[in-house]
Amino acid sequence: MTKFSDLALDPRVLQAVAETGYETPTPIQAQAIPHALEGRDVLGIAQTGTGKTASFTLPMITLLGQGRARARMPRSLVLAPTRELAAQVAENFDTYAKHTRLTKALLIGGVSFGEQDKLIDRGVDVLIATPGRLLDHFERGKLLLTGVQIMVVDEADRMLDMGFIPDIERIFQLTPFTRQTLFFSATMAPEIERITNTFLHSPVRVEVARQATAGENITQRLVELHPTRRDMGPKQKRELLRRIIETEAEACTNAIIFCNRKTEVDIVAKSLKAYGFDAAPIHGDLEQSQRTKTLDGFRDGTLRFLVASDVAARGLDIPAVSHVFNFDVPSHAEDYVHRIGRTGRAGRKGTAYTLSTPSDEKYLAAIESLLKMPLPRVPVPEGFIASETGEPDAPSGRSGSSRGGSRGGRGAPAAREDDRSGERAERNAGRDGERRTRKPRSEAAPVAEVTQAVPAAMPTDVQAAPEAAPREVAAAPAPRNEEPRETRQEPRREPRRDDRREDTRREPRRDDRRERNDAPVVGMGDHVPDFLLRGFKMPVAPDTAEG
Ligand code: AMP
Repeated sequence: MTKFSDLALDPRVLQAVAETGYETPTPIQAQAIPHALEGRDVLGIAQTGTGKTASFTLPMITLLGQGRARARMPRSLVLAPTRELAAQVAENFDTYAKHTRLTKALLIGGVSFGEQDKLIDRGVDVLIATPGRLLDHFERGKLLLTGVQIMVVDEADRMLDMGFIPDIERIFQLTPFTRQTLFFSATMAPEIERITNTFLHSPVRVEVARQATAGENITQRLVELHPTRRDMGPKQKRELLRRIIETEAEACTNAIIFCNRKTEVDIVAKSLKAYGFDAAPIHGDLEQSQRTKTLDGFRDGTLRFLVASDVAARGLDIPAVSHVFNFDVPSHAEDYVHRIGRTGRAGRKGTAYTLSTPSDEKYLAAIESLLKMPLPRVPVPEGFIASETGEPDAPSGRSGSSRGGSRGGRGAPAAREDDRSGERAERNAGRDGERRTRKPRSEAAPVAEVTQAVPAAMPTDVQAAPEAAPREVAAAPAPRNEEPRETRQEPRREPRRDDRREDTRREPRRDDRRERNDAPVVGMGDHVPDFLLRGFKMPVAPDTAEG
């Protein structure tokens, strides 16, 4: 068996590898590294989890060991499809290059150009970037790619899915013809084949078995749900997901839950949270700082459930994920392989559940044809009965089932109405979640309004959905002698004209305003027009205004 010391790596690299505790190279490393060290182009067909990152970082560090970086002219370039993957590659560089003096810069969206420019200006040995951000820097005249000696394209198939291929072609053309290229892709779609034929020079093709199809360490399960009504599908799937998680109990130490759409990611995360599950969303519309925080939490075990879109979770290196849940059957069969490959890594065992409904038939067929095997079906967990149209699904501790619930019973019509509002609220909450990253305050109101329709005594998915509501409510002065429902009704927006009719509830607000305005107004009774209570502020000319 090949050992790291058999590979002609720089002793400083070998030392760093030894410090990580890795003893033997993985197959892709054993096969790719010797060719890369010889200066050959490499076409690596491998997916994450195989050790492919080290298969290009180790030889790169060795090859770049000699020589110095020049201002604005990076000596090597690694292109990754997502910010997370790029950041992960950068972490690998930090680990393996720690005994060298090589410098690196990471160019990803969500980080200010200024900081990144400074690093590039000083000169870097390794530039790690997402394609769009790299071209942005190039177009601003801050970067020259004519000094690139080694170029890596990581996860080319994902670049194709994300529409980055024209960018990649352009970047190839901006680098010297004599560069060495290390190109990685999990699959060889015709478009990828074309790119490699165009830009790689007699590459060595290195292929390792697809981890997920080997699959012995991943237990796959398909749970088929037949929603009682088509529009109840998502809600009943959320109920089913919770029930499965409960039945998995301690075996499910942590999990990634995949949804097909970003809005669904938000909804599922908020719903789980409402039911006491420790969950957070990750998708491309969230701010980078939020994404990083969520991922860090998931990595260090403080967050148990990561609800993710394919793009956000692609290539994430989180070795100990016990479960993957496909809340939605992926519409690209390849994504199924990537998703379930998040578990069962580094020799561990993993479990992958897929929730399907009859409308997923076509996608399931594609997955099974790719895997060349049927997905093992398991029945819905014991005790699971999907709630019917009428009533909201209840949080744990209450019966999740309302099958056959009394439609004519007391409060039934309201419950039905609430439930519909509930679905709306969840959807609004999903959208709100996305927008709130940009406009925290102004988007809160619609959620609060939908929430009002839900009786306080019925904490459903819905009520949980508007994440911000409880905080806002808590911040408002607690009205005296009110039912909990009314507390919930406390709107977050500034009082509007019609709100003044709700005299009793508005009282404390007025007091607040008085406090703010210090001097009480005498002689106007209780009917003080709003504008009289506001402070004056002189208009400021735009050119003198503070930024
Ligand atoms: P990658 O395919 O690059 O995402 O790597 C998957 C995981 O394998 C990462 O957690 C690496 O740190 C780990 N890894 C990389 N090389 C080795 C090795 N030679 N032995 C054991 N683990 C490794």
